[in-house]
Amino acid sequence: MKMVLLELLNKVHFTFDDIKNLLSFRSKEDIDMLRDFAYQVMKQNVGETVYLRGLIEFSNICINDCYYCGIRKSNHKVKRYTLDKEEIYEAAKWCAEQGFGSLVLQSGERNDEQFIDFVEDIIIKIKLSTKSEKLPSGLGITLCVGEQTKETYQRFFNAGAHRYLLRIETSSPVLFKKIHPDFQLYERRMEALKNLKEIGFQVGTGIMIGIPGQTIDDLANDILFFKKMDIDMLGMGPYIIHSDTPMNVYYQEYTERKREIYELALKVIAVTRIVLKDVNIASTTALQAMYPMGREAGLMFGANVIMPMLTPTHVRNDYQLYNGKPCIDEFTSDCFECVQQRIESTGRKVGKDEYGDSRHYFNNRHLNEYGYLLSPE
Ligand code: SF4
Repeated sequence: MKMVLLELLNKVHFTFDDIKNLLSFRSKEDIDMLRDFAYQVMKQNVGETVYLRGLIEFSNICINDCYYCGIRKSNHKVKRYTLDKEEIYEAAKWCAEQGFGSLVLQSGERNDEQFIDFVEDIIIKIKLSTKSEKLPSGLGITLCVGEQTKETYQRFFNAGAHRYLLRIETSSPVLFKKIHPDFQLYERRMEALKNLKEIGFQVGTGIMIGIPGQTIDDLANDILFFKKMDIDMLGMGPYIIHSDTPMNVYYQEYTERKREIYELALKVIAVTRIVLKDVNIASTTALQAMYPMGREAGLMFGANVIMPMLTPTHVRNDYQLYNGKPCIDEFTSDCFECVQQRIESTGRKVGKDEYGDSRHYFNNRHLNEYGYLLSPE
């Protein structure tokens, strides 16, 4: 049996059936083997360093109504906020001084001109104000502000953001439709992902694992989708229920499946690493929300990025996409030393003051054209 598994793991090209078989590993021995193999693939292709992106959730105002999300526009219990620019600059400066190297600017989705100007402004100012000997181009900026027009994406890119996260949540159009209202279109999400790539962003996407009704076939197709879309970065986490959403009807099912969903999320990380090899994969906060050492487990299964929470404390409680989000009440809980200790407890080292860009992006397309602009070294 072990030989059969090893043969499967060592393949160069993975079919739908191969991926499905890998995701179906169940015994502890098989899952341990999957984890160790994914770790080796990571080590060979992107190294063992863990890169950090300080996460600033600068606004929870959103025009969308995703059925699974705690800050969807129809949840009127949420106190809406947008941070002052000064507060964002302070958090960014702290991020740079701590040695994080990069940050993620995340918010709910808005497409109005005022919002676009606001985001463009903060990118420009953060790039300028965080320049130093260690970061000659300023902090690396990843944006996560949803679907925008191609012109808007171009403005953000020109302003200095060079990575963009736009999760597809599921590559199955049928499942996508089940978890989004009719006005949110799968086709528009796809179009946005293609536009981001054409502009030259390092493009990240991701999925929720354990959505009610999602099958192993869906997840295998998700991994093939990442490959087909030539994705550079991934953020994949377990689906965690939020009580103030239409999907709270699945509460009982969710509670019963929690352990299974967590394990499945780790397997998806491992299989994605094995199939895609040189992409960046985040070990998400949602893993930590399920189990206190979840982020560390994600690293052992092949992830190489962590996004410590830098959102100012007074609004953290108002940015809960799911219930039980960790670190919502202590600003220092994700300081560099704390994160470093947690990462080093897994035997890995932290990429201090490094961008930690996606190796895949440079391996495939943009080294000569953009490399000198993006690398801080
Ligand atoms: S998941 Fe994102 S786009 Fe959807 S409602 Fe929540 S914040 Fe808005």
